[in-house]
Amino acid sequence: MTKTLPVLSNATLSELTELMHSWDQPAFRARQIYRQLYVNLVDDPDAMTDLPLALRQRLATEARIDSLRLERLQTADDGMTRKALFALPGNAVVETVLMIYPDRATVCISTQAGCAMGCVFCATGKLGLLRNLSSGEIVEQALWAAREVRKVAAEQGGGREAAPAHQITNVVFMGMGEPFANYDRWWAAVERLHDPQGFNLGARHMTVSTVGLVPGIRRLAQEQLPINLAVSLHAPDDALRSALMPVNRRYPLAELLAATRDYIARTRRRVSFEYVLLQGRNDSPEQAQQLAALLRQDAPARQPLLYHVNLIPWNPIPGTPLGRSERKRVLAFQQVLQDQHIPCTVRVERGVEIAAACGQLIGSHQREHAHVRV
Ligand code: SAH
Ligand code: SF4
Repeated sequence: MTKTLPVLSNATLSELTELMHSWDQPAFRARQIYRQLYVNLVDDPDAMTDLPLALRQRLATEARIDSLRLERLQTADDGMTRKALFALPGNAVVETVLMIYPDRATVCISTQAGCAMGCVFCATGKLGLLRNLSSGEIVEQALWAAREVRKVAAEQGGGREAAPAHQITNVVFMGMGEPFANYDRWWAAVERLHDPQGFNLGARHMTVSTVGLVPGIRRLAQEQLPINLAVSLHAPDDALRSALMPVNRRYPLAELLAATRDYIARTRRRVSFEYVLLQGRNDSPEQAQQLAALLRQDAPARQPLLYHVNLIPWNPIPGTPLGRSERKRVLAFQQVLQDQHIPCTVRVERGVEIAAACGQLIGSHQREHAHVRV
């Protein structure tokens, strides 16, 4: 008979303290372990050398540190973009992408294996929802990335003109899945990554992207931690948005923009609207005008616009008739928005050749399975 072991990456410091208590250990042992996990980034109880040997052994046999298993690592951009494929307990896999720059390192984290939202342009959407990730499985992706950054900095720092960053500076929840469809576990992961006693990542260094689940936006507006919000818009009218993103039938544009407006009013934080550009579908100058009008009408009178638009050239995925907008169409679209004084940037993608860019995450095991459904 197999017993389910407690997984340490799932635990808050107070849950870890309870576990230690049940093992007749003092509370400070929990703090030591928590520090080892989140500050020293240790993933093996043997390496927790400040613990007595007996406790290390007990941790090794009666608990598990983590649950993700690294299946494959792919690199691009001279090793500065790194995509990990992790196997979860059960059949599913998820992917995590790390992008290292001289001044920062961003990790793009998955919150679900697959996704139920079915956006037609997204590889993950083709899978359907396989399962939600636990808070530990979400947190572990950041811990993996932090170890990886440290390793790359140690290996490559000396030889490069600009030394790469040596720690994670940004976490974006833009990997596989819809974070607000797994809100509680996702938020537990945010709190854990933020915890100043542990991983200590500032809330403003975290960004969540949502397909537009209005209850999630409203809930986030009430949270104490000021993390950043990005809303996937992708179309300037309901008919097109519903065709591209089935969720729009449940939460149409007016409702979505009202929730976003309330969020901005309550938090005074800037929201970014993501807009994937698909050749001949949503990328005409007229549609840019329509988008500008939609956003302008939404701005509170005489207040600076607390949002900006992030244009994302679509990353091709197999099995759809969609196309990536030509560069000149992207720039023309951007120009229309800028002429209307809507702040607008074009996202620079990393890792397209290793299918590590936005919306390309699918997992090699799942790919075959997904093809059947396309
Ligand atoms: N589920 C969330 C977050 C994950 S997707 C959401 O949909 O917002 C992160 C971003 O990548 C979203 O804006 C999504 O619309 C976009 N995206 C999905 N597929 C893409 C593709 N093939 N190319 C470029 N962006 C894509
Ligand atoms: Fe899910 Fe986001 Fe992909 Fe839509 S774009 S299917 S919400 S992961």
